Amino acid sequence: MDEFIKLLHKDYELVQYQMKDKAIIFHIQSSRKELACPFCGSKSMRTHSVYEREIQDLPIQEKKVILLVTTRKMFCDNPQCQHTTFAEVHPFAAPKAQKTDRLVKNILHTSAQLSSLNASKLLKSGHITVCKSSICSLLKKMPAIVDKSSITKVCVDDFALRKRFFYGTVMIDLEREVGCSTNG
Ligand SMILES: [Zn+2]
Repeated sequence: MDEFIKLLHKDYELVQYQMKDKAIIFHIQSSRKELACPFCGSKSMRTHSVYEREIQDLPIQEKKVILLVTTRKMFCDNPQCQHTTFAEVHPFAAPKAQKTDRLVKNILHTSAQLSSLNASKLLKSGHITVCKSSICSLLKKMPAIVDKSSITKVCVDDFALRKRFFYGTVMIDLEREVGCSTNG
């Protein structure tokens, strides 16, 4: 199982794992001794305290995957720095995020082709838990795929990918008569 964690990031190791009915829980930690302060960049080896962060990752063998990541709060010893402590940053997830970057990418890929509600249902059937509102906020953070700044007239319509199950939304630029975006 340690190989799975090395695929996530080479500096992380498996402490233990638990197989549950519908989920696999991996307790993992970083093997890095020194951590860089994200505010000033200076390195620190002094630990203030330790806590666990729960981060959802891509499913394995049709089971939801939860990473319980040991996260250190460190002292920053740089007297010039505005912060006396900082939290360990994990390279596979944004600070405070509840999902890994690769899971977010997967959710966005699915959601770009479906409405948020249907994407949420489809992902749930694939053992990824994400609610409709989380998908909406992830999509809002995503950079625009199409430059819509010059578009003045649009037509918005729904269409069925599979009637009564999956619907998408299409936006048509009426002046150029081309589709400019499809998502929910
Ligand atoms: Zn600092």
